[in-house]
Amino acid sequence: MPPASPSQPGLASALGTALRSAGFRGDIAADSATLAAASTDNSVYEITPEIVVSPRDAADVARLLALLDHLDYAGLPVTARGGGTGTNGQSLNTGVIVNFQRYMTRVLEMNLAERWVEVEPGIVLDDLNARLAGTGLFFAPDTSTSNRCTIGGMVGTDASGKGSRVYGKTSDNVLGLEVALAGGRMLDSSAPTPDWAAPLLRQVASACDSGRAALLARVPAIPRRFTGYDLERARPAPDRLEWWRLFVGAEGTLGLVTRVRLRLVPRLAHKRLVVLAFDGFAHALAAGPALLQHEPVAIEVLDEWVQRLARDAGLMDGLPASVRGGAGRPLAYSFVEIGADDADAADAAARALAAAAAALPGLLGRHVAGDAAEIAQLWSIRAAAVGLLGRGSGARRPVAFVEDCVVPVENLVPFVDGFDRIVRGHGLDYGIYGHVDVGCLHVRPALDVDTDRDLLQRVSDAVYALTKAHGGIFWGEHGKGIRGAYLRDYVGETAYAAFQAIKLAFDPQGRFNPGKLVAANGPLMGIATTPFRPFNAPPHDPLAKAFACNGNAQCLNYTRTTPMCPSFKATGDLRQSPKGRADALRAWHRAEGEGAADRHRRAADLFAALDTCLGCKACASSCPVHVDIPAMKSHFLDAYYRTRRRPLADHAAMAVEALAPLLKRMRPLVRVLAPPAFALAERLFGFVDLPQIAARPLHGLGYPVASFRAAAARSRPGNTVLVIEDAFTSVFDTEAVAAVCGGLEGLGYAPLIVTLPPGAKAAHVKGARRRFLNAARRQIEALRVLAGLGRPMVGVDPAYVLMLRQEYRETGLDVPRVQLVEEFLAERAREGDAWPRLSAAPPRKLLLHCTEASLGVQPRRLWQQVFATLGLNVDIVDAGCCGMAGLFGHEARHQEISRTLFASSWAPALAGEAQVLATGFSCRCQVGRLSQATAVHPLAAIRDAARHAA
Ligand SMILES: Cc1cc2nc3c(=O)[nH]c(=O)nc-3n(C[C@H](O)[C@H](O)[C@H](O)COP(=O)(O)OP(=O)(O)OC[C@H]3O[C@@H](n4cnc5c(N)ncnc54)[C@H](O)[C@@H]3O)c2cc1C
Ligand code: SF4
Ligand code: SF4
Repeated sequence: MPPASPSQPGLASALGTALRSAGFRGDIAADSATLAAASTDNSVYEITPEIVVSPRDAADVARLLALLDHLDYAGLPVTARGGGTGTNGQSLNTGVIVNFQRYMTRVLEMNLAERWVEVEPGIVLDDLNARLAGTGLFFAPDTSTSNRCTIGGMVGTDASGKGSRVYGKTSDNVLGLEVALAGGRMLDSSAPTPDWAAPLLRQVASACDSGRAALLARVPAIPRRFTGYDLERARPAPDRLEWWRLFVGAEGTLGLVTRVRLRLVPRLAHKRLVVLAFDGFAHALAAGPALLQHEPVAIEVLDEWVQRLARDAGLMDGLPASVRGGAGRPLAYSFVEIGADDADAADAAARALAAAAAALPGLLGRHVAGDAAEIAQLWSIRAAAVGLLGRGSGARRPVAFVEDCVVPVENLVPFVDGFDRIVRGHGLDYGIYGHVDVGCLHVRPALDVDTDRDLLQRVSDAVYALTKAHGGIFWGEHGKGIRGAYLRDYVGETAYAAFQAIKLAFDPQGRFNPGKLVAANGPLMGIATTPFRPFNAPPHDPLAKAFACNGNAQCLNYTRTTPMCPSFKATGDLRQSPKGRADALRAWHRAEGEGAADRHRRAADLFAALDTCLGCKACASSCPVHVDIPAMKSHFLDAYYRTRRRPLADHAAMAVEALAPLLKRMRPLVRVLAPPAFALAERLFGFVDLPQIAARPLHGLGYPVASFRAAAARSRPGNTVLVIEDAFTSVFDTEAVAAVCGGLEGLGYAPLIVTLPPGAKAAHVKGARRRFLNAARRQIEALRVLAGLGRPMVGVDPAYVLMLRQEYRETGLDVPRVQLVEEFLAERAREGDAWPRLSAAPPRKLLLHCTEASLGVQPRRLWQQVFATLGLNVDIVDAGCCGMAGLFGHEARHQEISRTLFASSWAPALAGEAQVLATGFSCRCQVGRLSQATAVHPLAAIRDAARHAA
């Protein structure tokens, strides 16, 4: 039988069946959405595998590799994937992708006395360090992807980052490995060498001996030393072989790492940050050697380009005046971190550095930060500024391919001059930031990858040559991936031949991540031969944002308290993330365009991936390029249901919103009929725990109510605030409307509840586009009438207000501004409205709706401002998504995700609380059904305190 080749029909399903028979316990997926999600990383490349498997443990990995040794699967590539944050296609390949990040995330053993920990490779760096919190120790290599990259991936690329001059790279902090080789044979550096491995390791030792001297003669001895097959440290003496060191930086080309022992180091007790502003980037770079004499932990630089982006985004306002610079004056920055175990020593070192910096050419300002909160805030400004570089717009956008060159610190200035000549000489724009302490610069020139492949190759070749000429390393931080094609030239023939012998010894059939770094025989992948991902959508395409996704995987972060992305956090399934969904949308778009035979299956796979999206909109606001999955889902569903029958449940959901005026008018009758009707709906349509119709009608809340047409007549001069109703609160939660009105009244305003024509939320969510657009236009018209009254307009529910700002823009019309409650109140506080000072009660916990929280720090800041101005205590809790999100948590098929999310994010915040404040109607429903606590709108607290004070 001929060996299996990628894309052989039926191969994936045969392999899946065989794996199950062999006792493989992990996940096996070959649906088109999963394959699309695994086909990209943060690079320009796209390679679609045959199958993605997620092993539960090392035994599963061994089972997989043993099975793949079978002749039926001979030749099928096997490639490890961690967080998939590689910038150059490191984890992309055909064949089998082994996803370690899903289940192999355990800490296996910890020895604090000896300062080491053993982990499975899929654990995320931040997760590991969170588990070490309180021990005083941590795993030091610090990537900017620390909330999503895995230890296995860090071992694969020999990752490093801020602080690497002091703490070293991953390879300096790994103490041993267990690996799985072809056939499922396990090799463990902390166990005696098995008999079968002895000849293999002799071969490896001899290869190291043949190439070590040549490699050392060829590569520069600089802090970000060469990584790849580390002949130097694998053979520290003629009679010693530390074979496992060859796997650090090998990018999965030798075998699969199943267990890692890591060195832990003590955290520095005291840190100081010195921010230096220079008149230009050349001066900031040139300052490097002088600053290094002060032994800083890190020196990070930003050029004028980044500073300009940050200034335009308002970020620089957060810097102290001494380093802020004047309007329009471009500055460059150095952020210098100093650390010590003793506070006085840290202060003295920071003062000495700042004093010495005064004499640096081009220095315009200095600031020393000693307070931990201020230091964190200043670093966050730097991180946010750098994040802006990834944004870009138009056909040319920043891409990674020459993004992490390292040269000796003293060569930085001439290197940057040469770099600038190459890149700008090709008509490309870019900004620079980086780690000056180790001579590492990050640059992502803006290209249109659809048309600029030759340009990408030319710039890449020229920058490679320039880096080499300056005694540097082309792949200084992010690993090699497809750029491994330069390796042979870089290390020379002798060292490369040694690499080939090592590859042959560990991976004789060339199965592991083939085409990368080293091929014993056969070609390597290169820029010219590897498929690029489609970069730009056709003009005006509603799926354009799926093409803009650059795969940086920010949406795959594991932090429980951040809004993005709840469905991924609940499932750990790549397909159920913004990135996975964007990849699957692009793949479906292409299949539709090409009229592919499997397009119906692809549509079904994409439907499944999108069905678990909660519509929380965190991706639309927190993703650097605003990949708005709910908007694209709406368009997809619209197309999907053009050729399929829409479920009755969708019609029912849309009917509730459309019939809201009728339901409100006939409330007493509806309240009687609702329980049996809802019970029937639950049975027929798969809903659960539908909310009750509110008892009090809008007209019974004690505040005036008017339709948008009649509002002019009811609006009083001076202090009228128009409280804009929405279908869901005014049918199901009129107490929230009463709370908003009561709170406003308590602060001296005259609320007027205004009713509008029915809204369009459900139609948008369910992808009934025409219905959505018609309803949205009607509401916009009504809001325009109201805007003419010149009174402030405030919405009750954040999800509704933000829909007006986001989804309603899809009509192409200008939508009059309706404010969130906190926006209105904070604005009035700033304007100096006379509010009563309310008596301080014990602090109340306030949890924000995730659409509101995903706008960033602003809503949180505004709520804090409002409560502080009133003299009330509030504790705003970062809790992520509650899992309800409108109808989502009421759909039976989503119960597991909905309840998992609540249990992991909100339940801990609610422990021991009888009542909390929550801005969202959905969140209050979820608290009501899944906890002992109750939740009320935050303005209920203000209303009650005002009544108490009166
Ligand atoms: C915005 C951005 C910023 C970044 N900043 C930094 C930075 O500051 N410092 C830095 O070093 N890097 C940085 N990177 C690059 C990337 O985050 C690192 O290379 C990281 O170590 C990759 O980890 P991962 O889990 O995502 O691995 P992946 O990308 O999934 O894999 C990386 C390589 O490791 C291999 N691998 C993964 N798991 C295993 C295993 N179990 N066994 C064998 N091989 C395995 C893969 O096959 C692949 O070749 C950045 C990337 C982005 C997108
Ligand atoms: S969806 Fe956004 S955050 Fe996620 S990978 Fe794509 S660009 Fe990055
Ligand atoms: S809307 Fe929320 S759940 Fe859906 S993809 Fe975006 S972040 Fe994830």
